[in-house]
Amino acid sequence: MLSRRALLRGHLREEPRILPPGLVRPVAEICQQCRACVDHCPASIISLKSGMPALDFSFEGCDFCGECRDNCPHSDVFFEEDLTFPHTAQVLSHCLALNGVDCQSCRDHCPADAIRFRPRAGGPWHPDVAQDDCTGCGACIGHCPTNAISISVRSGPHVDAQS
Ligand code: SF4
Ligand code: SF4
Ligand code: SF4
Repeated sequence: MLSRRALLRGHLREEPRILPPGLVRPVAEICQQCRACVDHCPASIISLKSGMPALDFSFEGCDFCGECRDNCPHSDVFFEEDLTFPHTAQVLSHCLALNGVDCQSCRDHCPADAIRFRPRAGGPWHPDVAQDDCTGCGACIGHCPTNAISISVRSGPHVDAQS
């Protein structure tokens, strides 16, 4: 099933699964589908996708509150101690600023100040994501007017590896 984001933006491609922060990936395969994480996420960004939890950053990012882990009946086995994501944000080539249109919306909504704009003579400044500072929270994604922010596995290929 396509995500709400994909439907709203007219995309036909299934988006990759993003697991709650700290959730150990193989554990998703034995998740009991109890929905505790879905029901307790204050940002309402978790849903069950093919029976397994999946985050949607279309409208909200994750603030690492830990409610998903704290309410999971198997948290001691399923979650790592650190609530981290294995991905970071990535600006795609159809970003407005990269195509001559002034925009810094992503930077304005990044709680980690991880999006830096490089000054450029004669045109809009270009965005760069500081990989060491990006937490992968996804807060920038829903604020990009052209859906030009994706996520990529840290120092690896595209996040499809999480699907
Ligand atoms: S850490 Fe909090 S905001 Fe993030 S997915 Fe879990 S419950 Fe939602
Ligand atoms: S994913 Fe979060 S930390 Fe990373 S650039 Fe986007 S808003 Fe900033
Ligand atoms: S919000 Fe989107 S279009 Fe605007 S600068 Fe950031 S990535 Fe580019």
